[in-house]
Amino acid sequence: MADTPHIESPFPSSPVMPKLFDGGKTISFSCHKGIGCWNACCANIDITLTPYDVLRLKTRLEMTSSDFLRQYTVPYELEKDGIAGIKFKPVEGGTACQFMRPEGCSVYEDRPTACRYYPVALISMRRQDEYTDTSSYALVKEPHCKGHEVERPLTIDEYRQEQGVAEYDDQSRGWRQLILKKMSSGPTIGKPSLRSRQMYFMACYDVDLFREFVRSEGFQNAFELDEETSRQVMEDDVAMMQFGFRFLKQVLFGEVTIPTREDAVRVREQRLRELHELQIKRRVYDPADEALEYI
Ligand code: SF4
Ligand code: SF4
Repeated sequence: MADTPHIESPFPSSPVMPKLFDGGKTISFSCHKGIGCWNACCANIDITLTPYDVLRLKTRLEMTSSDFLRQYTVPYELEKDGIAGIKFKPVEGGTACQFMRPEGCSVYEDRPTACRYYPVALISMRRQDEYTDTSSYALVKEPHCKGHEVERPLTIDEYRQEQGVAEYDDQSRGWRQLILKKMSSGPTIGKPSLRSRQMYFMACYDVDLFREFVRSEGFQNAFELDEETSRQVMEDDVAMMQFGFRFLKQVLFGEVTIPTREDAVRVREQRLRELHELQIKRRVYDPADEALEYI
């Protein structure tokens, strides 16, 4: 089976040099206040966000995830079967990032993965039906970026460390692997239902809404969560996000990753029977339905 490359470029429309590097590759780059192109990259954005990016930013801004998504993001089609990703929504009527200020990034300590990586692009690859991925890197060279002209040699590994991307990569690994598996799985998995796609979006990006779903009677009646997991996911956004990635393996690929309650199937069948009977009754007794017979 062939490797399926998935390119995660901070600026997907940019010319990514086709040559792949490992972390030991030495580059020469420096971005600092006072450089001639200061803020040029933030003035014309195309920034894909990871679930962990959303958590960091919504926490910093003290917003709910739903409000953050509404105010700062737009959805886009990440994958041909309709799995959605999100990007930053630029300023009204413009192309600049809403967090750009003359002095620089106003959310610098919590800036997204793509902003940290630039001008390096992470290239993830995986084999079909596997979750393990391998990472390589490419260099993005855009004409406006003068950072490449500065003599400051360092390896990609050193640059990643300097930019604090390891934590971001670790936290988003489960999400990246879901996307890679979906992209390379082909017709065996098929197109997820609208409900599954909505569930993917909520579990990945709208952690506060997903928590409400996990707290709901329907979820609690269907799935068995041990006390410790329940406590963690209710108290901690990151734990809830990771739980969401686990749950989505079940939703998208039918893997049993969250134990179901013993009586869940019986309760579901009973409920379906009740619904069916209700529909039959409505068919017989609902005058509106009866009237339809004469049209
Ligand atoms: S979040 Fe910060 S670094 Fe990233 S595009 Fe916006 S202003 Fe630039
Ligand atoms: S050096 Fe590159 S990354 Fe830094 S501000 Fe200029 S365009 Fe942006």
